[in-house]
This record gives sequence, structure tokens and C-alpha cells, in this order.
Amino acid sequence: MPATSLDTIVSLCKRRGFVFPSSSVYGGLGSTWDYGPLGVELKNNVKRAWWRSVVHERDDMEGLDAAILMNRLVWKYSGHEATFSDPMTDCRACKTRPRADHVFAAQKGRDPKGLAEINAAIEAKEIACPKCGSKDLTPARPFNLMFRTSVGPVDSGDDSGLVYMRPETAQGIYVNFGNVLDTMRRKLPFGIAQIGKAFRNEITPGNFTFRTREFEQMEIEYFVRPGEDEAAHEAWITERTNWYLKLGMRPENLRVREQEKHELAHYAKRCVDLEYRFPMGWSELEGIANRTDYDLKAHSRSPENPDAVGELKYFDQEQKKHLVPYVIEPSAGADRATLAFLCDAYEDALVKEPPAEETAKLRDLVESFAKSVGRREGMAAEVKQRLVSTAETIAAGLPGTLPQLIGLMEDSEAATIEVMKKVRGVGEKIAEEHTRTVLHLHPRLAPLTVAVFPLKRNDPRLVEMARGLKRDLQRSGVRTVYDDTGAIGKLYRRQDEIGTPWCITVDFQSLEDQTVTVRDRDTMQQERLKAPELAATFAARLT
Ligand code: ATP
Repeated sequence: MPATSLDTIVSLCKRRGFVFPSSSVYGGLGSTWDYGPLGVELKNNVKRAWWRSVVHERDDMEGLDAAILMNRLVWKYSGHEATFSDPMTDCRACKTRPRADHVFAAQKGRDPKGLAEINAAIEAKEIACPKCGSKDLTPARPFNLMFRTSVGPVDSGDDSGLVYMRPETAQGIYVNFGNVLDTMRRKLPFGIAQIGKAFRNEITPGNFTFRTREFEQMEIEYFVRPGEDEAAHEAWITERTNWYLKLGMRPENLRVREQEKHELAHYAKRCVDLEYRFPMGWSELEGIANRTDYDLKAHSRSPENPDAVGELKYFDQEQKKHLVPYVIEPSAGADRATLAFLCDAYEDALVKEPPAEETAKLRDLVESFAKSVGRREGMAAEVKQRLVSTAETIAAGLPGTLPQLIGLMEDSEAATIEVMKKVRGVGEKIAEEHTRTVLHLHPRLAPLTVAVFPLKRNDPRLVEMARGLKRDLQRSGVRTVYDDTGAIGKLYRRQDEIGTPWCITVDFQSLEDQTVTVRDRDTMQQERLKAPELAATFAARLT
């Protein structure tokens, strides 16, 4: 079962060096995260797998790495200066500033059709502040999501040096369309791919790395002749869905959702979202849009755009005429994909039954936790209900439900209940001894591919051979670490928890016949392989 609560993933990420809260020595900066030693490897592997699939393995794609800071006119003519905004309303009673479209959607059960409809609902007092319930809300106003900064040594106080931190990487591709076309001698259809940082001053960031103000996008702009756009769109939907599945994502957790007419951006002919079943519900992983010829035209010289230096168009040799290509845009988030792969790979499993008396003690404690939650005042009703029903299900199913108990022990709401301390005092020890946490990451995504252990760390011959193996494997491009800081069982558990697919143990037989034990993370089966053949074996398994 993949992770059922985001808290479980947050806790694992912090404990094992995947993701840390940013600037934590100064108390952090809300919804900003730093990728630690294992997180950076995982996210790099996600980006590498994407690049390999959409650039290297195709004949119709080129790569690009455009600057984050661009001429402000890019954002004027792309439409972002005028329209890249969220509608905000102020609650006059409690002084909070919620997103008006979210309030509307939550209270009316559907998305609003526009600012006018939101404001009509506010005026008619049909919607209320989600925090205090007051209907005294100000008319909603657009709040631009682009971060502003200025170039040059002096901030003159006016907007003469104003530039934006790009809110998407796509515009860097459009404005380089002509450069790539000319230098790479491309013919339609072809595409340009780019990975890079994007910044949005999100009003309601949250859900860990799902929505942050600084994030990384993996975007493709695929240029086709008008008329060939619909087929290309379908092909990209299939291609991108298969990418997630080939990297091990469970099909039941991935779905394709067609955007409804009123959700579409004004330039989009059609847009499909690939959604993942995150612990907080189905949410967008990637958007795949047919953006027609809107963007290339927007950046071409015309009566509407006297600032552009030329036209972004294509000379079609077959038809002997100029045309403006249509664009299919598969736009994914590197952070969201990384989070989805983590959630999907996560498993807590019972490996052996604890003694009956320990189980009984734990059951009593979990039951008294459920009662305490029931008696607790001031806790939101839905949180209360969730905690009570989870605890009751766990208590009834122990010891089989020990894995779910791990999630409850890491739940930040559950931690506010006093009895949870006692549950953890007993539960953590039992869980440690009788369950294992595994990340079933695809070997190409796993931060480490191989861990090498000597059976005994005080035998120099074993240590020397194990260290030598680590060095050789790493030199041949297999990400490998050496570890001798515990008993083999403990070392396996540590590697399972971070998703290392294979662990090698060097034992006394290894010294005689140059064979080693290779243990598989998922099956826990061990096989005996010849040390000199390991690099080739792992390289083959990684392709
Ligand atoms: P959402 O509806 O979730 O705000 P969006 O439709 O605005 O997303 P796009 O502009 O289509 O997103 O961006 C493409 C991709 O970039 C998204 O599918 C997502 O993976 C990623 N992305 C967008 N905004 C964020 C963010 N604030 N934090 C992390 N990733 C993001």
C-alpha cells in the first residue's frame, strides 16, 4: 500500500535526508524546502529519466536551458503581467485573505466561471469566510503571482529596472523557437525540452513539496503544422502517461482528466491533466495542453506587438509558404513527480508477529488514545473523526495493522493528544522489531543503486574486498556506497527505507571464490554472484 498520509512521507524525508525545511536554523521559511543528500539524488534521477525519455530517446526533440531572468516584455506579451493572478478576498471580520475561487468552489460545489460570478456571490452573501464564517467579504481582486526584482546596481524606485523571476519555463522556449529552428536545421514536427526553476508567489502553498513558491518544471513545447495538432496531442498524452508507468507508478494511482471548457485558459484548444492519487486526494502532476499558435504569434511583430523584432514562423518547404506552428505543451513538475514517486513507492509491512502480550498492551493504549481523541475539545470535527476511526481500525486489527500505526504515530494532529506519547513509547519499539519500511523505487530512480557491506567490520580482508568492490562499481557508473556501521540485518533495513534495490555482502567465501551475496530489496531473496561480473549485471538491470 502506498503512503496514506503525507506526514509519513515528510517524516521519512526528514529522518533519512531526502528533504529538510529550508533555513531551519532561523526557524524556516514557510513552505520552502531543501533537498538533502538522498533527495537531490532522487530528484536528479527523475529529471535524468525525463530528459532521456523526451530528448535522447527521440529523434524529434532538442534541449534548452534558458535564463530565469528575461526581458520584462516577454511577460507583457505572453499575457502574464495582465492575467497571471489569483482572485483574493479580505474577510473584514477576522482579517484573513483567502483565495476567493477556492472559497466559492468549496461552498458552492463547483468552480466559478470568473471574477464576476465570484463577486456576485460575495455581494449576495452566498459565500462565507472559511476561517470565521463571516459573510462580510470584500470584492475579490486579482493578485499577481509573479515575483518582482530589479536589475542594475540601484533601485531607482520606479519600474525602469523591473524584471520578474520566471513563473514558468515555457516562455524561454517560445522566444528561442527561431534560434533552435535555424541552428539545428529542424523541420516540423519537432519539440524543445527544458528543465528549470520557476517561481510563483502562491497564496496557499502547502502539502509539502506539492505546492511551493520556488519549484522546478520539466516542460516540452512540441511544434506541429496546424491540423496535425490533435493527433500530436493524443500521442503526447499516451507517451507521458507511459513514462510514469514505466518508472513503476501504480496504474490505479494515475489518471487522465480532461479539463472542462470553463477551466481552459483562453488560448487553449484542449487540456488534459495527468493526476496522481496523493495522500490528500487526486491532484495535478502534469498538464498537457494544445496551446494553438497563441504564444508564437504573441511574440511576433504585429500591430498588437510593436516591440518584437521579428516574426516567429516557419517556412514550409512542402507547401512553399510560411506558417505559424501549433504547440502541444506537456508541462510537468520535477518536485511533484518526485513526491508522487515517493508516495507510490512507500510501504510499511509486517515481517514477523510480535508476542501476544506486547500486542495486547499496544491495543489497550491505542484504544485509550481513541477515547482521548473523542473527549478532546477544540479539535476540528473531521480531524477527530479521522483519528478515532483510524485508531479503532488499528486497535481491532493488531498486529496486522502495525504498519498503519506507524502512520498514526507520525501524524502531526495525533501528536497533540497526550496518550500518543505512551503509544509511541511502546509502539515504536515493536514496529522497529517487527515491521520494515521499504521504498520500492524503480532502480533508475533510487538515490543509491547498491550498498556493499563486509560481514565483519573487524576483518581487514573483508573490509578491503568490500571497499574495493564499492570503488570498482562506482567507477563503472553504478551509484554505490560502503557501510559497516551495524549488523547486516540492520544495514538491510536502513537501505530498504531509502529504496536501495541491491545490497552486497562480502563474506569469508568471497575471499576464496570471489563470489558475493546480492540481496534484492523487493523479494528479500539472496543470490550468489561473481564479483567481477557485478558491474555488467547491474548496468544491465538499470537499462
Ligand atoms: P496548479 O493547478 O496545481 O496550480 P497549474 O495548472 O498552475 O498547477 P501549470 O502552470 O500547468 O500548473 O504548471 C505545470 C506543472 O508545474 C504542474 O503540473 C506542476 O507539476 C508544476 N507546478 C505548478 N505550480 C507549482 C507549484 N507551486 N509548486 C510545485 N509545482 C508546481
